[in-house]
Amino acid sequence: MSRRIAILGGTFDPVHLGHLAIAEDVRFALEAACVLFVPAAQQPFKTGAETAGAEHRLAMTQLATADNPGFGVSEIEVRRGGISYTVQTVAELRAQYPEDELFFIIGADAAADLHRWFEVERLLSLCSIVIVERPGYVLDTEALYTALPFARSRVRHVAGPGLRISATELRERLLKGHPVRYHLTPAVLQYIEQHKLYREPNSA
Ligand code: ATP
Ligand code: MG
Repeated sequence: MSRRIAILGGTFDPVHLGHLAIAEDVRFALEAACVLFVPAAQQPFKTGAETAGAEHRLAMTQLATADNPGFGVSEIEVRRGGISYTVQTVAELRAQYPEDELFFIIGADAAADLHRWFEVERLLSLCSIVIVERPGYVLDTEALYTALPFARSRVRHVAGPGLRISATELRERLLKGHPVRYHLTPAVLQYIEQHKLYREPNSA
């Protein structure tokens, strides 16, 4: 029987409760078998801007998701290295899960750029897109469908929990020594402290 698998790509620099909460809401809304977190080696729109190395971001994502049997982590992009194109990743996952229905999750901020993604038409033939609301971003859906008419039938909208948490803000807080305790999981915070991550601007 065909299952639904949702994929959450990101830089996860670091992974935070915003990511975990949208993943759980999408899993619930779609009745998906699992959500696969896929840390990027290098994100096309922010090449060189990642601050923690890929191995650290992967390890933090594994720690954050370990206690949820409905979550998994794929090393596919970190192993491939270089710029991580979602279309390539989803094509590989398509081959890995030929029977299953694939959904790629993006927040409203990322959705505004969707029409600029590499081979987006092919991506939409391989999976559906799930757009989740993100506080501070109002998505112009009509502009999205004008730029990408074929997306209309391939996109689903999920409200999500609307948590105003971002990795950029977390990095700033960590740099300044401001509280982050309720933005991420204890295991991830412990890892950040152990490895002295995010103590300097743009250090890995
Ligand atoms: P950064 O500020 O470094 O870009 P981020 O918090 O946006 O970090 P990403 O790794 O870029 O985290 O996000 C991965 C995916 O999760 C993106 O599609 C993004 O839109 C979505 N996302 C991240 N945080 C939230 C949130 N709080 N609510 C909804 N979507 C989110
Ligand atoms: Mg982001």
